Amino acid sequence: MDRIKSLRGFRDIYGDEVKKFRYVEEVCRKYFNLFGYKEIITPVLENTGLFIRSIGETTDIVEKEMFTFKDLSGESVTMRPEATAGIVRAYLEQGIFAKERISKLFSIGPMFRHERPQKGRYREFRQIDVEVFGINDPMLDAELIWMTTLILKEIGLENYTIEVNSVGCSDCREHFRQMIVGYFEGIKDDLCEDCKRRLQRNPLRIFDCKNTKCKEISASSPFLFDHLCEPCKTHFNDFIRHLESLGIKVNINKRLVRGLDYYTGTVFEIVSQELGSQNAFLAGGRYNNLVESMGGPKVPGIGFAIGLDRLVLLVKEIKEKITPVFFFAYLGERAKKFIFPFMEEFIINNLKLLYLPEAKSLKSQLRYADSIRADYVLILGEDEIEKGIVIVRNMSKGNQLDIPLDVSTLIPNLQGLFEK
Ligand SMILES: [Zn+2]
Ligand SMILES: [Zn+2]
Repeated sequence: MDRIKSLRGFRDIYGDEVKKFRYVEEVCRKYFNLFGYKEIITPVLENTGLFIRSIGETTDIVEKEMFTFKDLSGESVTMRPEATAGIVRAYLEQGIFAKERISKLFSIGPMFRHERPQKGRYREFRQIDVEVFGINDPMLDAELIWMTTLILKEIGLENYTIEVNSVGCSDCREHFRQMIVGYFEGIKDDLCEDCKRRLQRNPLRIFDCKNTKCKEISASSPFLFDHLCEPCKTHFNDFIRHLESLGIKVNINKRLVRGLDYYTGTVFEIVSQELGSQNAFLAGGRYNNLVESMGGPKVPGIGFAIGLDRLVLLVKEIKEKITPVFFFAYLGERAKKFIFPFMEEFIINNLKLLYLPEAKSLKSQLRYADSIRADYVLILGEDEIEKGIVIVRNMSKGNQLDIPLDVSTLIPNLQGLFEK
C-alpha cells in the first residue's frame, strides 16, 4: 500500500536533534527567568487580518508566504508566520497593558511560511520569541543583546556576528521615503515589477528585494541610517555605548532591514558563517508604533526571535548531567516478577532501570543492553533467586559483583558500587 508522506517543508524531529532542541530551550528558559521574563502561549491559528495589519500588506511574508485559508465558517484564517503579532494581540486582548507597566514575555512554538525549503529553512519552523512592552530606553535594547550573548555562551557558540542598524522612527522614515522615491524614480526602469509597485506603495521594501538587479541598485543608494533624525541618532548611539560597556562587539550594517513593516529604530541580527545562505539564526528589533497601530495605547516594544531549527545546527555538544543507565536482565517467570518492584525503587531515587519485554535469552538481553548503552546490567535468574543475590555487571569494565536480592537495600548497594 502507498504510504502517506509528510508535507514538503514539514519534518519530524527526533533522536539527537530533539535533544538539542530541548537543550537550547532549557538554557533560554533559565536566562529568561533570570532576566524577569514570563511565558505566554498564543494560538497557532489567527485571523488573517492580524498579520496583514501588523507585518504589512506589501511585505513578502504577507504577499507570498502565508498559509491562509478559509475555515468551515468561511472566515479567513492564517497559520502564524511569526510570533509578535499574536503576542501583541494577546497583550491587548488580555488587558496586560493595563495591569503591568513593563511586560517581559517569551513564547516557544512553531511558525509557518510557504517558502522554498532548503537547509535550515522549513515551512514549519520553530522559534523562541521574546517581547518587551513599555520601555523605550536604549539600555533595554542592549540588555536584550547581552542576554542573547549569555545564552549563546552557555550553549557553546562562539563564531557569530551581531549586526545592528537603525531603521528610524516614522518621522525620519517619512523624510527618507520622499528622498528615496526621487532617487528610485530616476532609475525606475531597472527595477523588477514587484519593486515598481513597491515604489508607489512602500518604497523602503525595495531594500529587501531578492532580485539581483534590485540588490545592486539598492546597494549604491543612500542609506536611511545616514539620515536619521536627532532622537533616533541619540537612541542608537546610546545603545552602542551600553553594548561597549558590556564588552559586546557589534557590526553596524546599514543595509540591515527586516522584512516586516513594524520595526522602528534599533534592528539586529545574529549570523553565523557556518550556516551558509540562511545564516541568521536570531533577529529582532524595536517596534514602537505597533501596539498603537493594532488599536492599543502608545506603548513602545522590542523583541527578537531565535530560529531554533538553525540554531540547533550550530550546537556541537550538549552539557548533560550524566546519570548511569541500568538494565535489568531476567530469566524465568519468578525473576520477571521483580521487574516492576525494582523499577519503582529506581524511579523513586531518580534513576533509570530499563528492561526488554518478551526477552528470550540472557544473550539477547545483553546484546540489547549494549545497544542502548547501559552502564550496568542487573542479572536475575532461578539460581540467583535461590542464593538470594543479584549479579551486577559493569558493562564498560566487564567485571561483575553480587549484591543481596533485597528491594529495600538495592539502591544503596548499587550506589556503593558505581560511586567507587
Ligand atoms: Zn527618527
Ligand atoms: Zn525588486
